[in-house]
Amino acid sequence: MKIAFIGLGNMGAPMAANLVKAGHEVTGFDTAAPMPDGVTAATSAAGAVAGAGVVITMLPNGAILRAVAEQVIPSMQPGAVLCDCSTVDVDSARAVADQAVKAGLLAVDAPVSGGVGGAAAGTLTFMAGGSDKAFAIVQPLFNVMGQKAVHCGPSGNGQAAKICNNMILGVTMIATCEAFALADKLGLDRQKMFDVVSTSSGYSWTMNAYCPAPGVGPTSPADNGYKPGFAAELMLKDLRLSQQAAETADADTPMGQLAAALYETFVEAEDGRGMDFSAMLPRFEKRHRG
Ligand code: NAD
Repeated sequence: MKIAFIGLGNMGAPMAANLVKAGHEVTGFDTAAPMPDGVTAATSAAGAVAGAGVVITMLPNGAILRAVAEQVIPSMQPGAVLCDCSTVDVDSARAVADQAVKAGLLAVDAPVSGGVGGAAAGTLTFMAGGSDKAFAIVQPLFNVMGQKAVHCGPSGNGQAAKICNNMILGVTMIATCEAFALADKLGLDRQKMFDVVSTSSGYSWTMNAYCPAPGVGPTSPADNGYKPGFAAELMLKDLRLSQQAAETADADTPMGQLAAALYETFVEAEDGRGMDFSAMLPRFEKRHRG
């Protein structure tokens, strides 16, 4: 299949490279990043999409997605699918999908989980929103770039699933980190804490698979000086998206709100920028109750 790929940064480049490896013809456009091997460079976003059956975008945010959609939709061939894999706000995802459908195109919002490692290994999870017809067209590409794709419902539902998942992740990471910091102060050995919690009712992905304490549990960014991994500023972005969505939908999310505020302080006023999101543990260790 002829594919256009717009936004070949940390995630987009390895995703596009996997499509090339699977035998697809990929034309790419990025305002700054170089093209990965095998991807033909276009000189504009509109130029990249001409003749493509699927256009994949992997961009920083909703405002940039809206701008790129304005550029590419008029140049896409009728019936082609605009598939956005970026993490953006639900409103932008739905607005872009509406615009695409009105222009005679199909649209899927399909944010991913799995990070740069998953993008390189082709093991991402896709959570998709859009019509059955649109999903059926892009599903084989999800199978190349990832290992699981869940069709979550109509347009915007992929982004809804992503931000709800990541709100749980942010809240749980904070809870795990503050519990480790409390356990330290109570004189509880970290390995014992892990051994108990990872097999008790406090277990979670953040404890069992991504333990924020160095030297405990499986290897994680904590064992590598808290180098990301999943950067604290990306967690902050996703928590802000969850709070923006909660406001629009009139949903009460006090824990998500608090997690967003804590990551905001960590990233913007403390030393969290450039650190993995699990570096909340050393942050809590340094702090006192009052
Ligand atoms: P990135 O900044 O490395 O890549 C974004 C790319 O978009 C850059 O190369 C940039 O030059 C390009 N770009 C910006 N404006 C453009 C435009 N107008 N036209 C064409 N290209 C443009 O970011 P990333 O880490 O690859 O993340 C991309 C998306 O994936 C984000 O929405 C992010 O939240 C999401 N995401 C990232 C991760 C991760 O671990 N990095 C994990 C899951 C989801």
